[in-house]
Amino acid sequence: MKLTIENISKKYGKKQALNGVSFEMENGVYGLLGPNGAGKSTLIRILAGVMEASSGEVLINGKNRKACDLEYRSKLGYLPQSLGFYPEFSGLDYLRFVAALKGLKGEGTERKIRSLAEQVGLTQDLHRKCINYSGGMKQRLGIAQALLNDPEILILDEPTAGLDPHERIKFRNLISVFSRDRTVLLSTHIVSDVDSIAKQTVMIKDGRVGKMEKNEYFINSMEGKVWLLKMTVDELVVYQDNHIISNVIPVGDRMEVRVVSDKKPAPDAAAATPTLEDAYLYEFHSNGRTA
Ligand code: ADP
Repeated sequence: MKLTIENISKKYGKKQALNGVSFEMENGVYGLLGPNGAGKSTLIRILAGVMEASSGEVLINGKNRKACDLEYRSKLGYLPQSLGFYPEFSGLDYLRFVAALKGLKGEGTERKIRSLAEQVGLTQDLHRKCINYSGGMKQRLGIAQALLNDPEILILDEPTAGLDPHERIKFRNLISVFSRDRTVLLSTHIVSDVDSIAKQTVMIKDGRVGKMEKNEYFINSMEGKVWLLKMTVDELVVYQDNHIISNVIPVGDRMEVRVVSDKKPAPDAAAATPTLEDAYLYEFHSNGRTA
Protein backbone atom coordinates (compact mmCIF):
# COMPACT_ATOMS: atom_id res chain seq x y z
CA MET A 1 0.00 0.00 0.00
CA LYS A 2 1.34 3.39 -1.00
CA LEU A 3 0.84 6.36 1.30
CA THR A 4 1.53 9.80 -0.16
CA ILE A 5 1.70 12.90 1.98
CA GLU A 6 1.26 15.91 -0.26
CA ASN A 7 2.03 19.43 0.90
CA ILE A 8 0.39 19.06 4.33
CA SER A 9 0.22 22.18 6.49
CA LYS A 10 -1.40 22.64 9.89
CA LYS A 11 -2.00 25.75 11.93
CA TYR A 12 -3.14 25.86 15.56
CA GLY A 13 -4.41 29.45 15.70
CA LYS A 14 -1.33 31.44 14.72
CA LYS A 15 1.08 28.54 15.38
CA GLN A 16 2.27 26.96 12.13
CA ALA A 17 2.89 23.39 13.32
CA LEU A 18 3.38 21.86 9.83
CA ASN A 19 4.51 23.75 6.78
CA GLY A 20 4.20 22.00 3.42
CA VAL A 21 5.17 18.45 4.40
CA SER A 22 5.51 15.97 1.52
CA PHE A 23 6.87 12.44 1.30
CA GLU A 24 5.88 8.98 0.18
CA MET A 25 5.96 5.51 1.78
CA GLU A 26 5.41 2.03 0.40
CA ASN A 27 6.20 -1.17 2.33
CA GLY A 28 8.80 -1.23 5.09
CA VAL A 29 9.57 0.80 8.19
CA TYR A 30 9.97 4.55 7.76
CA GLY A 31 11.35 6.81 10.48
CA LEU A 32 10.02 10.28 11.29
CA LEU A 33 12.83 11.73 13.34
CA GLY A 34 12.84 15.09 15.06
CA PRO A 35 13.09 16.84 18.42
CA ASN A 36 10.14 17.64 20.69
CA GLY A 37 7.89 20.30 19.20
CA ALA A 38 9.00 19.55 15.61
CA GLY A 39 5.47 18.58 14.49
CA LYS A 40 5.67 14.77 14.61
CA SER A 41 2.47 14.15 16.60
CA THR A 42 0.54 16.66 14.51
CA LEU A 43 1.53 14.85 11.31
CA ILE A 44 0.86 11.43 12.84
CA ARG A 45 -2.62 12.51 14.00
CA ILE A 46 -3.43 13.79 10.51
CA LEU A 47 -2.24 10.50 8.97
CA ALA A 48 -4.26 8.52 11.51
CA GLY A 49 -7.36 10.53 10.54
CA VAL A 50 -7.98 11.91 14.03
CA MET A 51 -7.11 15.47 12.99
CA GLU A 52 -7.69 17.50 9.84
CA ALA A 53 -4.86 19.25 8.02
CA SER A 54 -5.31 22.98 7.29
CA SER A 55 -4.26 22.23 3.71
CA GLY A 56 -2.70 19.44 1.66
CA GLU A 57 -3.71 15.86 1.01
CA VAL A 58 -3.07 12.32 2.18
CA LEU A 59 -3.36 9.81 -0.67
CA ILE A 60 -3.80 6.05 -0.35
CA ASN A 61 -2.69 4.29 -3.51
CA GLY A 62 -3.24 7.61 -5.28
CA LYS A 63 -6.78 8.14 -3.86
CA ASN A 64 -7.64 10.89 -1.38
CA ARG A 65 -7.86 9.37 2.11
CA LYS A 66 -11.29 10.88 2.76
CA ALA A 67 -12.65 9.21 -0.37
CA CYS A 68 -11.75 5.79 1.04
CA ASP A 69 -11.99 6.57 4.75
CA LEU A 70 -13.70 3.35 5.91
CA GLU A 71 -11.37 1.12 3.90
CA TYR A 72 -8.37 3.10 5.16
CA ARG A 73 -9.43 2.82 8.79
CA SER A 74 -9.93 -0.94 8.44
CA LYS A 75 -6.34 -1.22 7.22
CA LEU A 76 -4.83 1.17 9.75
CA GLY A 77 -3.18 0.46 13.11
CA TYR A 78 -2.42 3.49 15.27
CA LEU A 79 -0.51 3.87 18.49
CA PRO A 80 -1.09 7.38 19.88
CA GLN A 81 1.34 9.03 22.28
CA SER A 82 -0.91 8.20 25.21
CA LEU A 83 -3.83 5.82 25.51
CA GLY A 84 -6.90 6.37 27.66
CA PHE A 85 -7.89 3.41 29.86
CA TYR A 86 -11.17 2.79 31.67
CA PRO A 87 -10.18 2.28 35.33
CA GLU A 88 -12.02 -1.05 35.62
CA PHE A 89 -10.58 -2.59 32.47
CA SER A 90 -8.07 -5.41 32.59
CA GLY A 91 -5.56 -5.69 29.74
CA LEU A 92 -7.78 -8.40 28.24
CA ASP A 93 -10.93 -6.22 28.53
CA TYR A 94 -9.05 -3.41 26.82
CA LEU A 95 -7.92 -5.56 23.89
CA ARG A 96 -11.46 -6.99 23.51
CA PHE A 97 -12.86 -3.46 23.64
CA VAL A 98 -10.53 -2.19 20.88
CA ALA A 99 -11.23 -5.34 18.84
CA ALA A 100 -14.98 -4.60 19.10
CA LEU A 101 -14.42 -0.98 18.03
CA LYS A 102 -12.54 -2.29 15.01
CA GLY A 103 -15.47 -4.60 14.20
CA LEU A 104 -13.48 -7.77 14.99
CA LYS A 105 -15.18 -10.68 16.72
CA GLY A 106 -15.27 -14.44 17.09
CA GLU A 107 -12.78 -17.18 17.89
CA GLY A 108 -10.16 -15.79 15.53
CA THR A 109 -10.15 -12.50 17.43
CA GLU A 110 -9.68 -14.23 20.81
CA ARG A 111 -6.76 -16.17 19.32
CA LYS A 112 -5.31 -12.97 17.89
CA ILE A 113 -5.58 -11.25 21.30
CA ARG A 114 -3.77 -14.14 23.04
CA SER A 115 -1.11 -14.32 20.36
CA LEU A 116 -0.39 -10.57 20.45
CA ALA A 117 -0.36 -10.59 24.26
CA GLU A 118 2.25 -13.33 24.04
CA GLN A 119 4.30 -11.43 21.48
CA VAL A 120 4.40 -8.28 23.62
CA GLY A 121 5.00 -10.26 26.83
CA LEU A 122 1.70 -9.50 28.59
CA THR A 123 0.17 -12.99 28.85
CA GLN A 124 0.76 -13.20 32.63
CA ASP A 125 -0.78 -9.76 33.20
CA LEU A 126 -3.86 -9.87 30.96
CA HIS A 127 -6.26 -10.13 33.91
CA ARG A 128 -4.70 -7.27 35.87
CA LYS A 129 -6.23 -3.79 35.67
CA CYS A 130 -4.28 -1.97 32.99
CA ILE A 131 -4.52 1.31 34.85
CA ASN A 132 -2.01 -0.26 37.28
CA TYR A 133 0.41 -1.38 34.52
CA SER A 134 3.89 0.17 34.42
CA GLY A 135 4.65 2.67 31.65
CA GLY A 136 6.38 -0.03 29.60
CA MET A 137 3.46 -2.46 30.01
CA LYS A 138 0.95 0.21 28.92
CA GLN A 139 3.08 0.86 25.86
CA ARG A 140 3.24 -2.87 25.06
CA LEU A 141 -0.56 -3.07 25.42
CA GLY A 142 -0.77 -0.09 23.06
CA ILE A 143 1.37 -1.88 20.50
CA ALA A 144 -0.82 -5.00 20.78
CA GLN A 145 -4.05 -3.01 20.23
CA ALA A 146 -2.53 -1.31 17.17
CA LEU A 147 -1.80 -4.73 15.62
CA LEU A 148 -5.22 -6.32 16.34
CA ASN A 149 -6.63 -5.86 12.84
CA ASP A 150 -3.40 -6.98 11.12
CA PRO A 151 -3.04 -3.48 9.67
CA GLU A 152 -1.46 -2.82 6.29
CA ILE A 153 -0.42 0.61 7.55
CA LEU A 154 0.89 0.99 11.07
CA ILE A 155 1.45 4.45 12.52
CA LEU A 156 3.38 4.66 15.78
CA ASP A 157 3.84 7.86 17.78
CA GLU A 158 6.92 7.60 20.04
CA PRO A 159 6.39 3.83 20.43
CA THR A 160 9.43 3.15 22.60
CA ALA A 161 8.66 5.83 25.20
CA GLY A 162 8.79 4.16 28.62
CA LEU A 163 10.26 0.88 27.36
CA ASP A 164 13.41 -0.41 29.04
CA PRO A 165 16.35 -1.43 26.78
CA HIS A 166 15.26 -5.08 26.67
CA GLU A 167 11.65 -4.17 25.80
CA ARG A 168 12.96 -1.72 23.20
CA ILE A 169 14.91 -4.46 21.41
CA LYS A 170 11.91 -6.82 21.55
CA PHE A 171 9.72 -4.09 20.15
CA ARG A 172 12.13 -3.42 17.27
CA ASN A 173 12.24 -7.11 16.41
CA LEU A 174 8.44 -7.35 16.52
CA ILE A 175 8.08 -4.39 14.15
CA SER A 176 10.78 -5.71 11.81
CA VAL A 177 9.01 -9.06 11.48
CA PHE A 178 5.62 -7.39 11.18
CA SER A 179 6.72 -4.88 8.53
CA ARG A 180 7.22 -7.35 5.70
CA ASP A 181 4.79 -6.28 2.95
CA ARG A 182 3.38 -3.54 5.14
CA THR A 183 4.01 0.14 5.71
CA VAL A 184 5.09 1.31 9.15
CA LEU A 185 5.71 4.95 10.12
CA LEU A 186 7.58 5.29 13.37
CA SER A 187 7.81 8.76 14.89
CA THR A 188 10.55 9.29 17.44
CA HIS A 189 13.21 11.60 18.82
CA ILE A 190 15.36 8.55 19.66
CA VAL A 191 17.90 7.95 16.90
CA SER A 192 18.51 4.27 17.76
CA ASP A 193 14.79 3.48 17.16
CA VAL A 194 15.16 4.27 13.46
CA ASP A 195 18.85 3.43 13.13
CA SER A 196 18.35 -0.31 13.21
CA ILE A 197 14.99 -0.91 11.54
CA ALA A 198 13.92 2.02 9.37
CA LYS A 199 14.50 1.51 5.67
CA GLN A 200 14.32 5.26 5.17
CA THR A 201 14.08 8.26 7.45
CA VAL A 202 12.70 11.75 7.10
CA MET A 203 13.92 14.43 9.49
CA ILE A 204 11.37 16.98 10.71
CA LYS A 205 12.23 20.36 12.15
CA ASP A 206 9.94 23.32 12.88
CA GLY A 207 7.12 21.72 10.88
CA ARG A 208 9.23 21.18 7.75
CA VAL A 209 10.69 17.92 6.49
CA GLY A 210 13.81 17.22 4.51
CA LYS A 211 13.92 14.46 1.91
CA MET A 212 13.00 10.89 2.78
CA GLU A 213 16.34 9.09 2.45
CA LYS A 214 18.02 5.83 3.35
CA ASN A 215 19.85 6.08 6.67
CA GLU A 216 23.16 5.52 4.82
CA TYR A 217 22.52 8.73 2.91
CA PHE A 218 22.48 10.75 6.15
CA ILE A 219 25.49 8.87 7.48
CA ASN A 220 27.49 9.29 4.24
CA SER A 221 26.66 12.98 4.14
CA MET A 222 28.55 13.31 7.45
CA GLU A 223 31.82 11.98 5.97
CA GLY A 224 34.60 14.43 6.93
CA LYS A 225 32.43 16.14 9.56
CA VAL A 226 33.06 13.94 12.62
CA TRP A 227 36.27 14.20 14.62
CA LEU A 228 37.94 12.84 17.71
CA LEU A 229 40.18 15.00 19.83
CA LYS A 230 41.57 14.87 23.34
CA MET A 231 41.31 17.61 25.92
CA THR A 232 41.19 18.14 29.65
CA VAL A 233 37.90 18.41 31.55
CA ASP A 234 38.48 22.15 32.05
CA GLU A 235 39.03 22.64 28.32
CA LEU A 236 35.88 20.61 27.56
CA VAL A 237 33.74 22.80 29.81
CA VAL A 238 34.63 25.83 27.66
CA TYR A 239 34.71 23.94 24.35
CA GLN A 240 31.22 22.45 24.61
CA ASP A 241 29.62 25.89 24.74
CA ASN A 242 30.18 26.49 21.04
CA HIS A 243 30.75 23.09 19.48
CA ILE A 244 28.54 20.09 18.75
CA ILE A 245 29.75 17.27 20.98
CA SER A 246 28.27 13.85 20.24
CA ASN A 247 30.19 11.81 22.81
CA VAL A 248 32.81 12.04 25.57
CA ILE A 249 34.90 9.14 26.88
CA PRO A 250 37.54 9.45 29.62
CA VAL A 251 40.91 8.22 28.33
CA GLY A 252 43.64 8.34 30.99
CA ASP A 253 43.70 11.80 32.53
CA ARG A 254 42.03 13.43 29.51
CA MET A 255 38.72 13.20 27.64
CA GLU A 256 38.30 11.82 24.15
CA VAL A 257 35.71 14.14 22.63
CA ARG A 258 33.66 13.35 19.52
CA VAL A 259 32.98 16.58 17.70
CA VAL A 260 30.64 17.24 14.76
CA SER A 261 32.20 20.02 12.72
CA ASP A 262 32.37 21.09 9.07
CA LYS A 263 36.04 21.94 9.56
CA LYS A 264 38.81 20.01 11.30
CA PRO A 265 38.43 21.45 14.79
CA ALA A 266 42.13 21.18 15.78
CA PRO A 267 45.36 20.18 14.01
CA ASP A 268 45.59 16.96 16.03
CA ALA A 269 41.89 15.99 15.53
CA ALA A 270 41.40 12.56 13.92
CA ALA A 271 38.57 11.81 11.47
CA ALA A 272 35.93 9.41 12.88
CA THR A 273 33.38 7.15 11.14
CA PRO A 274 30.02 8.96 11.19
CA THR A 275 26.78 7.56 12.62
CA LEU A 276 23.11 8.49 12.24
CA GLU A 277 23.29 10.12 15.65
CA ASP A 278 26.02 12.47 14.38
CA ALA A 279 23.77 13.34 11.41
CA TYR A 280 20.87 14.02 13.78
CA LEU A 281 23.00 16.30 15.95
CA TYR A 282 24.32 18.10 12.88
CA GLU A 283 20.77 18.67 11.64
CA PHE A 284 19.30 19.69 14.98
CA HIS A 285 22.14 21.34 16.89
CA SER A 286 20.80 24.19 19.00
CA ASN A 287 21.58 27.75 18.01
CA GLY A 288 24.90 29.04 19.22
CA ARG A 289 26.75 25.77 18.57
CA THR A 290 28.52 25.85 15.26
CA ALA A 291 29.08 22.90 12.98
P1 ADP B 1 6.19 16.81 18.42
O1 ADP B 1 5.24 15.66 18.37
O2 ADP B 1 7.29 16.72 17.40
O3 ADP B 1 6.72 17.05 19.81
P2 ADP B 1 3.81 18.45 18.04
O4 ADP B 1 3.19 18.04 16.76
O5 ADP B 1 3.20 17.94 19.31
O6 ADP B 1 5.39 18.14 18.01
O7 ADP B 1 3.80 20.05 18.12
C1 ADP B 1 4.27 20.88 17.06
C2 ADP B 1 4.09 22.35 17.48
O8 ADP B 1 2.71 22.64 17.56
C3 ADP B 1 4.70 22.65 18.84
O9 ADP B 1 5.21 23.97 18.80
C4 ADP B 1 3.51 22.58 19.77
O10 ADP B 1 3.69 23.44 20.89
C5 ADP B 1 2.39 23.08 18.87
N1 ADP B 1 1.09 22.48 19.24
C6 ADP B 1 0.80 21.16 19.30
N2 ADP B 1 -0.50 20.97 19.63
C7 ADP B 1 -1.05 22.21 19.77
C8 ADP B 1 -2.35 22.69 20.11
N3 ADP B 1 -3.36 21.86 20.36
N4 ADP B 1 -2.52 24.03 20.17
C9 ADP B 1 -1.50 24.90 19.91
N5 ADP B 1 -0.24 24.50 19.59
C10 ADP B 1 -0.01 23.18 19.52
